[in-house]
Amino acid sequence: MPTASTRFIDEPARATPVAAEYDVLVVGGGPAGLTAALAASEDGLRVGLIESRSFVGGNMTIGLPVLGFLGQKGNQIIDGLPQKFIGRLRRERDGASEHRPCPLHMGITLVEPEAVKTVALEMLTEAGVDVLFYTFFSDVVMDGDEIRGVITESKSGRSAILARVVIDCTGDADVAFRSGVPTEKGDAQGGMQPPTLMFCLAGVDTDALRLAIANAPPAARTYLTDFIPAEYFGQNHQFIVVGLRELMARAKAERGLSIPNERTIIITGLKKGEAWINMTRVKGTDGTDARSLTKGEIEGRAQIDDIITYLVGYVPGFEKAYFTRTAPFLGIRETRRIVGRYVMTQEDVLACRHFDDAIAVASYPIDIHRPADDGCTLIWCGDCYDIPYRSLVPQKVGSLLVAGRSISATHEAMGAIRVMATCMAMGEAAGRAARISVRGNRAPADVDIEELRRQQLEHGVYLRNPDGTRAEPPHRTAA
Ligand SMILES: Cc1cc2nc3c(=O)[nH]c(=O)nc-3n(C[C@H](O)[C@H](O)[C@H](O)COP(=O)(O)OP(=O)(O)OC[C@H]3O[C@@H](n4cnc5c(N)ncnc54)[C@H](O)[C@@H]3O)c2cc1C
Repeated sequence: MPTASTRFIDEPARATPVAAEYDVLVVGGGPAGLTAALAASEDGLRVGLIESRSFVGGNMTIGLPVLGFLGQKGNQIIDGLPQKFIGRLRRERDGASEHRPCPLHMGITLVEPEAVKTVALEMLTEAGVDVLFYTFFSDVVMDGDEIRGVITESKSGRSAILARVVIDCTGDADVAFRSGVPTEKGDAQGGMQPPTLMFCLAGVDTDALRLAIANAPPAARTYLTDFIPAEYFGQNHQFIVVGLRELMARAKAERGLSIPNERTIIITGLKKGEAWINMTRVKGTDGTDARSLTKGEIEGRAQIDDIITYLVGYVPGFEKAYFTRTAPFLGIRETRRIVGRYVMTQEDVLACRHFDDAIAVASYPIDIHRPADDGCTLIWCGDCYDIPYRSLVPQKVGSLLVAGRSISATHEAMGAIRVMATCMAMGEAAGRAARISVRGNRAPADVDIEELRRQQLEHGVYLRNPDGTRAEPPHRTAA
């Protein structure tokens, strides 16, 4: 089925009703959109958030742990609103674990998808954010190179929403792309990290799993995991297993299973006996193309049976496991990235680079599910790196900011900044920058960076001094 149209029709011009007008409009309610809207609404601005689905949380609702809160030296490097959100999830809904150290991922924070949806929505509505579900961003309202609002499609038809600043948190840079911001996709060959349809099993004896790994003689290589020493599993009740490569290869050979992945990836759930499986893999999917996405859903779902056969038949603790559900949508790792005022690179990440306009600190390694084969590339830098504000500011188009996985970064740097704690930190910065922009009547690109950084620090955001220590908010002198 072709995806590019070769035939066209002319639509008659029409008047589109203006459904709402805000100071700041956030498009997309995933990790970045959540904190962007919360930060933008801090001092009473009119803030709207549109989301195509019936819930907020984005990929935080598909059974993934939040990565990125802990740095490569073990300390917490994301604080501020992301931490407030996780704290409330944990306190009020038992919906998050502590930030647990992990030798491969630095830190993992398990979250319960339904609790994420509830708490995120509570926080947004309490903050006065006008949330509109079932509403798909489809186009932009432009005045020259300035974005003035968006066009949406929904059950109500086609509407316009106007705003002084728009923050694109779609993950796909949908708004930036439509408004004419230059964007890039994938690696040098255009290959993008493959998506995964996550699914959940219940009836898993996670203790049997971890003890089998901890106690297996390494020489037997039966339960070898990637980068995580076996002893780790002896001490930790909540964990991610990545590896068991030889076990899976044996299962494939013995049972003729078709699993397009070299590694087993199992994430313990917060509920007893639950495990989320991150193992389907649909190469060649373009998450910005509905036909390709549909094919990805079909292929991802078709892979599940063989993966379950492998887990139940070969992996300790899964003998009585049974399938409960898939995630609500195919998880998209990579699509468009904007070209902004600064393009973050692999060198920035690996050199642990400091930036004068740093608005967040990150530490997650470069982690690329390779587009062309079934493997993964992981590169650690040993410490933290800064995210510069200029990477959230697009080239060419004014009154627009971008936060989340589609900021201005190369394919390699995006492989590091894409995790959800980092996306929440970027969202917080974008929301605060938008607020400063509206209050000060200045373009987002011209926001006083010292003022933004000061406000970030005052709100508990983690930033670094040149010597790497945590920066404190400057003392204000009495007027
Ligand atoms: C399979 C998989 C495994 C991963 N593993 C981990 C992990 O273990 N830990 C981790 O921290 N990160 C992980 N990541 C990365 C992480 O989940 C994403 O990079 C991150 O969620 C991006 O956040 P975001 O806010 O930019 O976008 P998203 O989480 O994608 O949120 C975007 C939101 O915008 C909405 N939206 C999109 N387009 C429109 C539109 N046109 N109109 C209206 N709304 C729209 C979407 O519905 C969604 O709610 C994984 C990703 C995948 C796919």
